Amino acid sequence: MKVTEHLARATSPLISFEIIPPLRGGNVQELLALIEDLIRFGPPFIDITSHAAEVIYEETAQGFQRRVKRKRPGTLGVCALIQNKWSVDAVPHILCRGFTREETEDFLIELRYLGIDNVLAVRGDDSGYEKPLQYGRSANLYACDLVDQIAAMNRGTYLEDDLLDAEPSDFCVGVGGYPEKHFEAPNLATDVRRVKQKVDAGADYVVTQMFFDNERYFSYVDACREAGIEVPIIPGIKILTSKRQLTSIPRVFYVDIPPALSAEVEAAPAEQAEDIGVEWALAQSRELLDRGAPSIHFYVMQSSRAIRKLLGRLDL
Ligand SMILES: Cc1cc2nc3c(=O)[nH]c(=O)nc-3n(C[C@H](O)[C@H](O)[C@H](O)COP(=O)(O)OP(=O)(O)OC[C@H]3O[C@@H](n4cnc5c(N)ncnc54)[C@H](O)[C@@H]3O)c2cc1C
Repeated sequence: MKVTEHLARATSPLISFEIIPPLRGGNVQELLALIEDLIRFGPPFIDITSHAAEVIYEETAQGFQRRVKRKRPGTLGVCALIQNKWSVDAVPHILCRGFTREETEDFLIELRYLGIDNVLAVRGDDSGYEKPLQYGRSANLYACDLVDQIAAMNRGTYLEDDLLDAEPSDFCVGVGGYPEKHFEAPNLATDVRRVKQKVDAGADYVVTQMFFDNERYFSYVDACREAGIEVPIIPGIKILTSKRQLTSIPRVFYVDIPPALSAEVEAAPAEQAEDIGVEWALAQSRELLDRGAPSIHFYVMQSSRAIRKLLGRLDL
């Protein structure tokens, strides 16, 4: 079922999760245990991130050479499992970066075959890897180009005009939004206009980047509505779980940690950081639901410990 149908039919607040496929060579049993833990909370859908290959640059006798250091497979396999073993809707993330449009089309065809109805279309983080384009291949530059491609497929338009069995797909498409603006955007108003472009291209809903101050979300929703964006805007919440994240989260995700939260974590022993993070996210979640958020999307990533503590206390 589509994410938008889940939202429309919900009679009580919905919660969804986002997980990362294990790095190559990682232990799939741990991932299965994580999913089992999450399934107990009855999520209507689970997102699985996608990642372009990582590269390194090496100095050699021929000058600097680029070498793929780590491939990041797993999204398709994990989605197939979630969708078909647990009958929970899987939402694979699809990227511009690191993938050609031809690879994206193949991926979408596989998803259809697996009975997957939803995708989240994002440009992708900069992994230092820009795949050289071979003759006859093309790439999506921005997420709105990717949404265009998926919308075209939903109308039955594939990359090759004469493709056999080119039936229209019917994907529900989510896109990312940034309450604190995307770090490359000159200002929030421009960034919101870019989100409108994605919605006009065919996106059905928005999931926000994590934020730790709810006012950022509420004013972002207001700005989006003023810009004519009418689709659901699902808040994304991450539980802060360690002192180290006081610096890594702002560095990696370009979001602020409110002074009250950082002061409390700094003053406490390291082992209390997670409980402080859970309290904070719990208060955020309660307020979001009280003030009408359509659902909450939790960035769980690879461990369910903190989210179990939170959901054990959140009245849904
Ligand atoms: C919910 C969510 C899930 C994510 N999942 C993943 C994941 O699985 N894997 C991963 O690698 N990353 C993921 N990311 C991170 C994301 O890939 C990065 O934040 C990326 O830098 C931007 O992606 P986007 O889709 O928002 O990009 P876009 O919407 O393409 O925007 C990127 C930047 O370009 C600007 N822009 C957009 N269109 C244009 C245009 N036509 N001309 C000029 N400027 C333009 C925007 O304002 C913005 O500053 C996720 C982010 C979110 C919010």
